Amino acid sequence: MVWDACSDALITFDKENLQDEMAYIVENNIIVAALTKQLENLSDQVRVQYKSKVVKYTWPKSHQVADAIPWVQVTLANGQTLQTKLLIGADGPNSMVRREAGIPTVKWNYDQSAVVAVLHLSEPTENNVAWQRFLPTGPIAMLPLSDTESSLVWSTSHRHAEELLQLDEESFVDSINTAFWSNENHSELVETAGSLFRTALSVLMPSAGSARQLPPSVAGIGPKSRIMFPLGMGHASEYIRHRVALIGDAAHRVHPLAGQGANLGFGDVACLTQLLSQAAFNGKDLGAMQHLLEYETERQRHNLPMMAAIDLMKRLYSTNAAPMVVLRTFGLQATNTLPAMKAQIMAFASK
Ligand SMILES: Cc1cc2nc3c(=O)[nH]c(=O)nc-3n(C[C@H](O)[C@H](O)[C@H](O)COP(=O)(O)OP(=O)(O)OC[C@H]3O[C@@H](n4cnc5c(N)ncnc54)[C@H](O)[C@@H]3O)c2cc1C
Repeated sequence: MVWDACSDALITFDKENLQDEMAYIVENNIIVAALTKQLENLSDQVRVQYKSKVVKYTWPKSHQVADAIPWVQVTLANGQTLQTKLLIGADGPNSMVRREAGIPTVKWNYDQSAVVAVLHLSEPTENNVAWQRFLPTGPIAMLPLSDTESSLVWSTSHRHAEELLQLDEESFVDSINTAFWSNENHSELVETAGSLFRTALSVLMPSAGSARQLPPSVAGIGPKSRIMFPLGMGHASEYIRHRVALIGDAAHRVHPLAGQGANLGFGDVACLTQLLSQAAFNGKDLGAMQHLLEYETERQRHNLPMMAAIDLMKRLYSTNAAPMVVLRTFGLQATNTLPAMKAQIMAFASK
């Protein structure tokens, strides 16, 4: 459930009419453990070098240059060198692969940092709803982990994030509950406009919309689980070069308000894997531009609209100016009454 701290507008996404689950929330350490296990099972085909740092890439020159290396050469901090037909840059938002390959990137820092923590709920519940409230300083989200625990992602101004990190546990928990429950950002004008619009919608579509539910209250936090991250957005104008492909945050970085960052990366992996398998099956050179171009086209077609939508949401909700609040209140309420539109949003987000 997503709702606006400046009005009563809300939108719920539920799994009615869906064949599969709408979404899964999986802790990062579980994903990493599962991947590690898979890699161990493939130890005859994949060699993992932990605690290694790449310090240099040497790119292949064009075919005409005599004695040029035909593949990409990777130099590690321990002096070891490796050669590859295809280098996959999965080295995060400050990607060295992207920088060294000279791929232009559009990027900016947001005026927000995110504070994350593991939350202990006041009482066990059937904890299967993700909650997100848009405060004028940024969204606060509580994502279910178990019947007694949820994960917090609270995006707010850098200064407020630093203050939240300094608070003692009790005051931090109070701040979280207040952020989810307080109506201090409501204004009479917006409430009246929102309530009139809601009434009009309920006359037009009596069965549409959804009842307001209440988020669980928080009683404590996991030890040493409170950390903050500066937020930004970035997009590589090209995801590929000869013998190079960027995936994940190396290619695109988004605000966490839609929980899509890693998902976009998984989409890149699925797409690239499929195209590379096909190329290998057909005996093609894995680093050739032909199938890499297909990867770039397919993924940019998906990633760019998603990134634009996330950035727009961030901007739309970063204000408590009444005209903007009224506009987004109408938009959210109207969308909440249109099941077909909600289904489309869910389908796009889960691709
Ligand atoms: C607060 C917050 C909450 C988020 N919540 C969600 C969410 O709910 N759902 C979701 O889908 N996404 C979420 N994300 C986004 C998600 O964390 C990222 O999209 C994801 O981690 C990107 O993965 P990646 O592997 O591409 O990059 P990274 O996770 O940045 O990994 C890059 C790796 O490359 C390594 N590396 C870099 N340079 C070198 C080098 N020279 N040599 C060797 N290794 C190197 C780094 O050490 C790092 O391990 C969130 C992000 C933030 C900040």
